[in-house]
Amino acid sequence: MYKIYFFVISLLGFFSCQNESITSSLLLDSKAEESIDNLINKMTIEEKVGQTCQITLDAILKKDTLGVLLEPHQIDQKKLNIALLNYNVGSLLNVSNHTFSLKKWQNIINNIQATALKTNHKIPVIYGIDAIHGANYIQNSTLFPQEISLAATWDTSHARIMAEITAYETRASGVPWNFSPVLDLGRNPIWSRFFETLGEDVYLAKTMGKSIINGYQGNGMIDKYHVAACLKHFVGYSVPSSGRDRTPALIPNRSLEELHLPPFRKAIDAGALTVMVNSAEVNGIPGHANKYLLTDILKNKWGFSGFAVSDWEDVINLNKIAQTDSTLKDAIATAINAGVDMSMVPYNPEYKKYCALFTQLVNEGRVSESRLDDAVRRILRVKYHLDLFENPIPDSSLYSEFGSKEYATAAYNAASESVTLLKNNNGILPLSSENKILLIGPTANSLNFLNGAWTHTWQGVDTSYNNNYPTIKTALEKKFNDVSYFEGSKMIMKDKDECDMPSSDLKNAVNFAKSADFAIVCLGELPSTERPGDILTLDLPEEQQLIVKELSKTGIPIILVLVEGRPKIIREIEPLSAAILQAYLPGDQGANAIVDILIGKVNPSGKLPYTYPRYNGVIMHYDHKQSELLNANTWKNNYYNPQWDFGFGLSYTKFEYSNLTVSKNKITSTDSLLVKVNVTNIGDRVGKEVIQMYVRDHYASISPPLKQLKRFTKVKLNPLETKTIEFTINIEDLKFYGKDNEWIAEEGEFTISINTLSERFYLKN
Ligand code: BGC
Repeated sequence: MYKIYFFVISLLGFFSCQNESITSSLLLDSKAEESIDNLINKMTIEEKVGQTCQITLDAILKKDTLGVLLEPHQIDQKKLNIALLNYNVGSLLNVSNHTFSLKKWQNIINNIQATALKTNHKIPVIYGIDAIHGANYIQNSTLFPQEISLAATWDTSHARIMAEITAYETRASGVPWNFSPVLDLGRNPIWSRFFETLGEDVYLAKTMGKSIINGYQGNGMIDKYHVAACLKHFVGYSVPSSGRDRTPALIPNRSLEELHLPPFRKAIDAGALTVMVNSAEVNGIPGHANKYLLTDILKNKWGFSGFAVSDWEDVINLNKIAQTDSTLKDAIATAINAGVDMSMVPYNPEYKKYCALFTQLVNEGRVSESRLDDAVRRILRVKYHLDLFENPIPDSSLYSEFGSKEYATAAYNAASESVTLLKNNNGILPLSSENKILLIGPTANSLNFLNGAWTHTWQGVDTSYNNNYPTIKTALEKKFNDVSYFEGSKMIMKDKDECDMPSSDLKNAVNFAKSADFAIVCLGELPSTERPGDILTLDLPEEQQLIVKELSKTGIPIILVLVEGRPKIIREIEPLSAAILQAYLPGDQGANAIVDILIGKVNPSGKLPYTYPRYNGVIMHYDHKQSELLNANTWKNNYYNPQWDFGFGLSYTKFEYSNLTVSKNKITSTDSLLVKVNVTNIGDRVGKEVIQMYVRDHYASISPPLKQLKRFTKVKLNPLETKTIEFTINIEDLKFYGKDNEWIAEEGEFTISINTLSERFYLKN
């Protein structure tokens, strides 16, 4: 029965579009819904409140007398009993800066669920974790590239496969709920979590995002190989005005509608079971107090019937940080009444206070019992979807593929299709393995730097749990006979910030340069996320730039490899480099992918999922307007001058575009338009190309962007092979959020552009 239901959901998702009112629902069949209602009817207020309470694993671990966690971590059964049996806690999360073996995870979950089975109603716990690029808190799991890299593949199959394998390996540990994907748009590169996004474009993000949901949850009933997804962070979290994490954003309603909401909407339509709330405030209203967004839009307009979980301590923070509520009790009332269903009140005694105050609020009528019931119903519904009532304890014999070679190959494929070739003067790449290589730079010999944050530990800098995969240095040494390695500069964590320092061996490298054929210079940034990832400038640190500046004086050709979660400004060293590879954060298989591209075993096919800025102070996006181009220095409309444009990326072969046609020159609101273009590989290597179709609305009552991505696909072409690519669009693709706060398409002229070709057509309403 649920299977049929899910099929309906996915069809509705497929046909739905931004301006329709709603379709999606995660309701179970009537028998299951009825049994949830019966259960709720039997529960006390305290039991119901407990279901909405989520605590961190730390809160139930054994500690020494100073409050430090005992090693190895062990569950303190007394604390667990108090949380589950006395406070009826419904959910646990996270792991304290540790990576556990699969076996240890299974034991932890078994213990928690066995204790939950002793509660009055035997309601299983739902455990959640941030497995954001693979099951990153389980030893020997498969680590994929981070989301920004996935977006750079421009291939939805990589997104789906990453999510499928992550779901499988996460579920193997007994954890059925993943706090992923991030669907916030990456439009502010100084923001510390830029790498967790799918880039700056709404269409790319929503398309890749949907594939991630399908991969995590599967297409039917969530079986024992899939997990519940959690869409983060609803909504507007990624564009803080200050650039610092968790600080306020100002977002016009039109931008919310056109940019920030659609990836969430698409994922909800695809059946996503849970949503995590934005920690910060938008237009002065904290995410956790925003009834309009959480209840009116998400639940009522979009018909979301899963649950919304708060982010870390954020219900408490309405009082402590946002200061919209003068007491913790008021803060709880505000959040729950706004639509938060589960609260991450992670520690002890905070969670106990939360439970006590929430219970009082219901008894006093400040939170209605029906709102509490609604929250609990949503939580139990998700537990039901995950089959936790029937099978709370994982069957460890079912996951023989965990950490398999096949999974590592999938991660390698994603990494090798993400790495983006930004410059290749005179076809200097690929290199022959006979060459003598000078390898240098702070990101050349670290697996952690390739993986980024949320890898084995929160910030990803601890090396003790690393899997046995090569760094760029060790991967290069396997393929080239003669590699000499220099540090060049040091990058360490000091006072919780990245600290770059010169290294004395730069001099030696410069001396050595005369005897090498090429310098491969690996630069980038230290893994970090959230507040520890806040930085003061986008400029690549001088100590790193110095490596390129000094080496370039020797005349050695420089191949720059960037290992970075966000685009650091490289304006001064770009002209000094003969070739540049953007590696992003490619994960455990990143070094193999980078080196295979350097030697030409893989032909690069990644494309930038963001506009690479040239200047620190000029952050523009590809979908800018004519009015943003005014250049007061020249009085010309030429202000857009990024280092590289969104969608840019080279290949070792060349593609030629021809015969762009549109099926009609005039369409009406009921027509669809068929767009065709031929793409030919005119080089002598097999290659993959991303065909990107943009639309421009020439004149509109809200000043229109000069182009917007509307379709893309990635194809493989043999030398001299031609493929005809077809895209279909209709009026929905031409709409914008109009003056009257409704989605409209206006009559007039539009241009379709693909590569350098363009065709016009006219819309007659
Ligand atoms: C982050 C979330 C994450 C949560 C649980 C928060 O600090 O903002 O993205 O899911 O912690 O680890």
